[in-house]
Amino acid sequence: MDTERLYYQDVYLKECEARVLSCRKEGDRCRVILDRTVFYPEGGGQPADRGALFVREPEGGWPEEDKEVSGRQVPVLDVQEEEEEIVHFTSEEVPEGSRVLCRIDWDRRFDLMQQHSGEHIVSGLIHETFGYDNVGFHMGEDCITIDLSGSMTMDQAREIEARANDYIAGCHSVEVLYPGPEELDHYDYRSKKELSGDVRLLAFPGADLCACCGLHVTCTGEIGLVKILSCHHFREGVRIEMLSGKRALAWLDTHFIQNSRIGKALSVKADGTAEAVDRLQKENYELKGALMEEKKKGMARLAASCKGERDICLFTSGLDPVDVRKCADGILDQIRGICVVLSEHDKEGFQYAAGIREGDIRPLVKEMNGRLSGRGGGKPFFAQGLIQASKEEAEDFFHGKGFSIRWA
Ligand SMILES: [Zn+2]
Repeated sequence: MDTERLYYQDVYLKECEARVLSCRKEGDRCRVILDRTVFYPEGGGQPADRGALFVREPEGGWPEEDKEVSGRQVPVLDVQEEEEEIVHFTSEEVPEGSRVLCRIDWDRRFDLMQQHSGEHIVSGLIHETFGYDNVGFHMGEDCITIDLSGSMTMDQAREIEARANDYIAGCHSVEVLYPGPEELDHYDYRSKKELSGDVRLLAFPGADLCACCGLHVTCTGEIGLVKILSCHHFREGVRIEMLSGKRALAWLDTHFIQNSRIGKALSVKADGTAEAVDRLQKENYELKGALMEEKKKGMARLAASCKGERDICLFTSGLDPVDVRKCADGILDQIRGICVVLSEHDKEGFQYAAGIREGDIRPLVKEMNGRLSGRGGGKPFFAQGLIQASKEEAEDFFHGKGFSIRWA
């Protein structure tokens, strides 16, 4: 059953009437074949169109274009080409022999035409400049990816982007060529594979010539703009992420709003945010350094104040495990017995570090873990862990052991 492919005659057709040649149920979907269609089936890297079939009874008549359509609306979930047949997958049955109005989701289709056309221009210019092939192409929901056979830098990608945008602004006519087999030999065109038989060539004069079955704008100005988002090493070459048209503009707008917010927060103009963040980072780094120095001095003072003591238990707060250890170590240099440092970790717990210069700390740590719901351990001279107990419970425990208790 041959379906007339109206989308190749006019890429701007949003709807057409058609007759249902067959409708077969398959699982929870129906396979509908029409005598003609405006629905593009998935192919050439371009996703299938979406839209709906409006089922009209034979005597129903047809609405004028763009008028509200009456009739039962059957969503088209997917369109695939299977053995040269175009299959419309629908959620409901449509009677064989009935007439339907096919209407595609035009905004979605035009977006895909912008993305696909932008990709051709970028791939073509890269091929012309570096000789690289496009070895992988994906039109995703978020962005379009192009995998190239060789390496390039983001700066080089940005040069390509600038040239592509100049070309787009030139409003060049896009041509579709169907050369015969002998004629084909005279064309130097891009293609993913060796082609024979009928070849459809997409010509963006001066930028690209490529075998493609997808749908494109007819004037490059319709693409509006292309934006390359990234260029990263991938397999043997690079992967480029890009956007065209309205999607590129929406992306730029999102980033513009983000940058404006940062500028406002830092009281700088939008083109000065990067420098302002650099300054902020430097300042933050210096403050952290100064804080560290203060901490060190505080710990040294604390350790010195413990000089001569025997067993000591120090309560503190806000120290991370590394500082808890350093603090205990500093005090151990000044005393003759055991040092336990407990830093309040959350409302019901403490980080601890316990040590002794000569002897074995492990029996005490084991007992502490048992009595104060703790976990952790270590070597004979040093142990670290967490206890889930209140300050009072911990104090009682160490008091009972004859420790002198300190707070810092
Ligand atoms: Zn293509």
